[in-house]
Amino acid sequence: MAKHLISKTSYIKALQCKKAIYLYKFYPKHKDALSSDRLKRFSAGHEIGFIARQLYPGGIDISAQIPASYEEYLKSTQEQIEIGKKVIYEATFKYNEVLVMLDLLIKTDTGWKAIEVKSSIAISETYKQDASLQYYVITGSGLTLEDFSLLYLNKPWNEIEKDEDPKTIFISESQLERCTSDLTKVHTQIEDIRRILAGPAIPSIKKGAQCNTPYPCDFIGFCTRQESEIAEGLFNNL
Ligand code: SF4
Repeated sequence: MAKHLISKTSYIKALQCKKAIYLYKFYPKHKDALSSDRLKRFSAGHEIGFIARQLYPGGIDISAQIPASYEEYLKSTQEQIEIGKKVIYEATFKYNEVLVMLDLLIKTDTGWKAIEVKSSIAISETYKQDASLQYYVITGSGLTLEDFSLLYLNKPWNEIEKDEDPKTIFISESQLERCTSDLTKVHTQIEDIRRILAGPAIPSIKKGAQCNTPYPCDFIGFCTRQESEIAEGLFNNL
Protein backbone atom coordinates (compact mmCIF):
# COMPACT_ATOMS: atom_id res chain seq x y z
CA MET A 1 0.00 0.00 0.00
CA ALA A 2 1.39 3.41 -0.98
CA LYS A 3 2.49 5.62 1.93
CA HIS A 4 0.57 8.80 2.63
CA LEU A 5 2.12 12.12 1.77
CA ILE A 6 0.04 14.45 3.91
CA SER A 7 -1.48 14.15 7.39
CA LYS A 8 -3.91 16.46 9.20
CA THR A 9 -0.97 18.01 11.04
CA SER A 10 1.08 18.62 7.91
CA TYR A 11 -1.95 20.04 6.04
CA ILE A 12 -2.57 22.62 8.77
CA LYS A 13 1.17 23.42 8.88
CA ALA A 14 1.14 23.99 5.12
CA LEU A 15 -1.76 26.43 5.42
CA GLN A 16 0.30 28.33 8.01
CA CYS A 17 3.57 28.43 6.03
CA LYS A 18 4.89 26.63 2.94
CA LYS A 19 8.38 26.56 4.39
CA ALA A 20 7.09 24.89 7.59
CA ILE A 21 5.56 21.96 5.70
CA TYR A 22 8.78 21.46 3.70
CA LEU A 23 10.89 21.48 6.88
CA TYR A 24 8.41 19.24 8.70
CA LYS A 25 8.53 16.68 5.92
CA PHE A 26 12.23 16.71 5.04
CA TYR A 27 14.10 18.29 7.96
CA PRO A 28 12.20 17.27 11.13
CA LYS A 29 15.49 17.22 13.06
CA HIS A 30 15.44 21.04 12.96
CA LYS A 31 12.21 21.25 14.97
CA ASP A 32 12.35 23.25 18.20
CA ALA A 33 12.05 21.29 21.45
CA LEU A 34 8.46 21.14 22.69
CA SER A 35 7.76 23.66 25.43
CA SER A 36 6.22 22.40 28.68
CA ASP A 37 3.11 24.46 27.88
CA ARG A 38 2.59 22.66 24.59
CA LEU A 39 3.23 19.29 26.23
CA LYS A 40 0.55 20.13 28.80
CA ARG A 41 -1.87 21.11 26.02
CA PHE A 42 -1.24 17.82 24.16
CA SER A 43 -1.84 15.85 27.32
CA ALA A 44 -5.08 17.76 28.09
CA GLY A 45 -6.17 17.14 24.47
CA HIS A 46 -5.71 13.39 24.93
CA GLU A 47 -7.62 13.38 28.22
CA ILE A 48 -10.51 15.34 26.71
CA GLY A 49 -10.60 12.92 23.77
CA PHE A 50 -10.96 10.00 26.17
CA ILE A 51 -13.74 11.77 28.09
CA ALA A 52 -15.62 12.40 24.83
CA ARG A 53 -15.54 8.66 24.12
CA GLN A 54 -17.78 8.18 27.17
CA LEU A 55 -20.56 9.90 25.22
CA TYR A 56 -20.36 7.00 22.76
CA PRO A 57 -19.28 3.99 24.84
CA GLY A 58 -18.49 0.48 23.65
CA GLY A 59 -16.51 1.49 20.59
CA ILE A 60 -13.43 -0.09 19.13
CA ASP A 61 -10.19 1.90 19.23
CA ILE A 62 -8.47 1.50 15.87
CA SER A 63 -5.25 3.06 17.18
CA ALA A 64 -4.97 0.27 19.76
CA GLN A 65 -4.74 -2.38 17.02
CA ILE A 66 -1.64 -4.55 16.89
CA PRO A 67 0.55 -4.33 14.87
CA ALA A 68 0.44 -0.56 15.10
CA SER A 69 0.80 0.76 11.57
CA TYR A 70 -1.27 3.06 9.38
CA GLU A 71 -1.82 0.21 6.92
CA GLU A 72 -3.30 -1.91 9.72
CA TYR A 73 -5.42 1.01 10.94
CA LEU A 74 -6.85 1.51 7.43
CA LYS A 75 -7.57 -2.20 7.03
CA SER A 76 -9.08 -2.54 10.46
CA THR A 77 -11.32 0.53 9.95
CA GLN A 78 -12.75 -0.98 6.76
CA GLU A 79 -13.33 -4.31 8.52
CA GLN A 80 -15.17 -2.64 11.40
CA ILE A 81 -17.35 -0.64 9.01
CA GLU A 82 -18.16 -3.77 7.01
CA ILE A 83 -19.13 -5.82 10.06
CA GLY A 84 -21.46 -3.01 11.17
CA LYS A 85 -19.60 -1.72 14.25
CA LYS A 86 -21.59 1.27 15.47
CA VAL A 87 -18.88 3.22 17.32
CA ILE A 88 -15.29 3.50 16.08
CA TYR A 89 -12.57 5.58 17.76
CA GLU A 90 -9.68 6.85 15.60
CA ALA A 91 -11.21 5.50 12.40
CA THR A 92 -8.49 5.88 9.77
CA PHE A 93 -8.99 6.87 6.14
CA LYS A 94 -6.77 7.67 3.18
CA TYR A 95 -7.60 9.44 -0.05
CA ASN A 96 -5.44 11.26 -2.59
CA GLU A 97 -2.35 10.47 -0.46
CA VAL A 98 -3.83 12.20 2.60
CA LEU A 99 -4.32 10.21 5.80
CA VAL A 100 -6.66 11.20 8.63
CA MET A 101 -7.64 9.63 11.94
CA LEU A 102 -11.07 10.69 13.17
CA ASP A 103 -11.86 10.90 16.89
CA LEU A 104 -15.37 9.38 16.74
CA LEU A 105 -17.21 7.64 13.90
CA ILE A 106 -20.79 6.79 14.82
CA LYS A 107 -23.32 4.74 12.90
CA THR A 108 -26.85 6.03 13.42
CA ASP A 109 -30.13 4.63 12.08
CA THR A 110 -29.81 6.93 9.09
CA GLY A 111 -26.09 6.85 8.29
CA TRP A 112 -22.55 7.63 9.45
CA LYS A 113 -21.73 10.63 11.59
CA ALA A 114 -18.16 11.92 12.03
CA ILE A 115 -17.13 13.81 15.17
CA GLU A 116 -13.84 15.56 15.92
CA VAL A 117 -13.14 16.57 19.52
CA LYS A 118 -11.45 19.89 20.34
CA SER A 119 -10.04 20.90 23.69
CA SER A 120 -10.97 24.57 23.56
CA ILE A 121 -14.05 26.64 24.30
CA ALA A 122 -14.57 28.01 20.79
CA ILE A 123 -14.36 26.82 17.21
CA SER A 124 -11.49 28.43 15.32
CA GLU A 125 -11.00 28.79 11.58
CA THR A 126 -8.23 26.16 11.84
CA TYR A 127 -10.66 23.65 13.36
CA LYS A 128 -13.03 24.27 10.46
CA GLN A 129 -10.20 23.72 7.95
CA ASP A 130 -9.28 20.51 9.77
CA ALA A 131 -12.93 19.36 9.60
CA SER A 132 -13.11 20.15 5.87
CA LEU A 133 -9.94 18.14 5.20
CA GLN A 134 -11.27 15.15 7.13
CA TYR A 135 -14.61 15.29 5.34
CA TYR A 136 -12.78 15.44 1.98
CA VAL A 137 -10.69 12.36 2.82
CA ILE A 138 -13.44 10.27 4.44
CA THR A 139 -16.03 10.86 1.73
CA GLY A 140 -13.37 10.64 -1.01
CA SER A 141 -12.35 7.23 0.32
CA GLY A 142 -15.91 6.04 -0.24
CA LEU A 143 -17.82 6.48 3.03
CA THR A 144 -20.90 8.71 2.84
CA LEU A 145 -21.28 10.96 5.89
CA GLU A 146 -24.63 12.34 6.98
CA ASP A 147 -22.89 14.81 9.27
CA PHE A 148 -19.50 16.09 10.39
CA SER A 149 -19.50 17.91 13.70
CA LEU A 150 -17.00 19.48 16.07
CA LEU A 151 -17.33 18.78 19.77
CA TYR A 152 -15.77 21.45 21.98
CA LEU A 153 -15.76 22.44 25.65
CA ASN A 154 -18.43 24.62 27.23
CA LYS A 155 -15.94 25.93 29.82
CA PRO A 156 -12.13 25.93 30.19
CA TRP A 157 -10.50 22.57 30.89
CA ASN A 158 -9.13 23.71 34.27
CA GLU A 159 -12.67 24.56 35.45
CA ILE A 160 -14.05 21.10 34.74
CA GLU A 161 -14.54 18.96 37.82
CA LYS A 162 -12.93 15.53 37.88
CA ASP A 163 -16.20 13.59 38.13
CA GLU A 164 -18.27 15.86 35.94
CA ASP A 165 -20.79 14.15 33.67
CA PRO A 166 -19.33 14.18 30.11
CA LYS A 167 -22.79 15.09 28.81
CA THR A 168 -22.50 18.47 30.54
CA ILE A 169 -18.98 19.27 29.28
CA PHE A 170 -19.32 19.47 25.52
CA ILE A 171 -21.06 21.52 22.84
CA SER A 172 -21.59 20.01 19.40
CA GLU A 173 -21.73 22.04 16.19
CA SER A 174 -22.28 20.64 12.73
CA GLN A 175 -19.75 21.68 10.06
CA LEU A 176 -21.47 19.81 7.25
CA GLU A 177 -22.32 22.88 5.18
CA ARG A 178 -18.78 24.26 5.43
CA CYS A 179 -17.24 20.84 4.74
CA THR A 180 -19.27 20.26 1.58
CA SER A 181 -18.66 23.76 0.24
CA ASP A 182 -14.89 23.43 0.90
CA LEU A 183 -14.36 20.24 -1.13
CA THR A 184 -12.86 21.92 -4.21
CA LYS A 185 -10.78 24.30 -2.10
CA VAL A 186 -9.30 21.44 -0.08
CA HIS A 187 -8.44 19.58 -3.28
CA THR A 188 -6.62 22.64 -4.66
CA GLN A 189 -4.72 23.09 -1.42
CA ILE A 190 -3.59 19.47 -1.47
CA GLU A 191 -2.31 19.90 -5.03
CA ASP A 192 -0.42 23.04 -3.91
CA ILE A 193 1.16 21.12 -1.03
CA ARG A 194 2.16 18.34 -3.42
CA ARG A 195 3.93 20.93 -5.61
CA ILE A 196 5.73 22.47 -2.63
CA LEU A 197 6.93 19.07 -1.43
CA ALA A 198 8.13 18.15 -4.92
CA GLY A 199 10.27 21.31 -5.01
CA PRO A 200 14.06 21.03 -5.00
CA ALA A 201 14.75 23.29 -2.01
CA ILE A 202 13.33 24.80 1.15
CA PRO A 203 10.93 27.61 0.12
CA SER A 204 12.52 30.98 0.71
CA ILE A 205 10.16 32.61 3.21
CA LYS A 206 11.12 35.14 5.85
CA LYS A 207 9.81 35.06 9.39
CA GLY A 208 6.69 37.12 9.95
CA ALA A 209 3.20 37.14 11.44
CA GLN A 210 2.59 33.62 10.12
CA CYS A 211 5.16 32.17 12.55
CA ASN A 212 2.73 32.37 15.47
CA THR A 213 -0.64 32.12 13.72
CA PRO A 214 -2.62 30.00 14.36
CA TYR A 215 0.08 28.18 16.38
CA PRO A 216 3.71 28.89 17.27
CA CYS A 217 5.66 27.21 14.46
CA ASP A 218 7.99 24.33 15.31
CA PHE A 219 10.83 25.89 13.33
CA ILE A 220 11.12 29.39 14.80
CA GLY A 221 14.55 28.55 16.25
CA PHE A 222 15.78 27.18 12.93
CA CYS A 223 14.49 30.13 10.88
CA THR A 224 15.90 32.65 13.37
CA ARG A 225 19.34 31.02 13.16
CA GLN A 226 19.11 30.73 9.37
CA GLU A 227 18.19 34.40 8.93
CA SER A 228 21.01 35.60 11.14
CA GLU A 229 23.52 33.30 9.40
CA ILE A 230 22.35 34.57 5.99
CA ALA A 231 22.74 38.16 7.22
CA GLU A 232 26.30 37.38 8.31
CA GLY A 233 27.07 35.46 5.10
CA LEU A 234 27.60 32.25 7.08
CA PHE A 235 24.63 30.12 5.97
CA ASN A 236 25.40 26.95 4.05
CA ASN A 237 22.61 25.21 2.21
CA LEU A 238 21.29 22.15 4.09
S1 SF4 B 1 9.32 29.94 11.65
FE1 SF4 B 1 7.97 31.18 10.37
S2 SF4 B 1 9.02 31.33 8.39
FE2 SF4 B 1 9.99 29.65 9.53
S3 SF4 B 1 8.92 27.83 8.83
FE3 SF4 B 1 7.88 28.53 10.68
S4 SF4 B 1 6.23 29.86 10.00
FE4 SF4 B 1 7.62 29.58 8.27
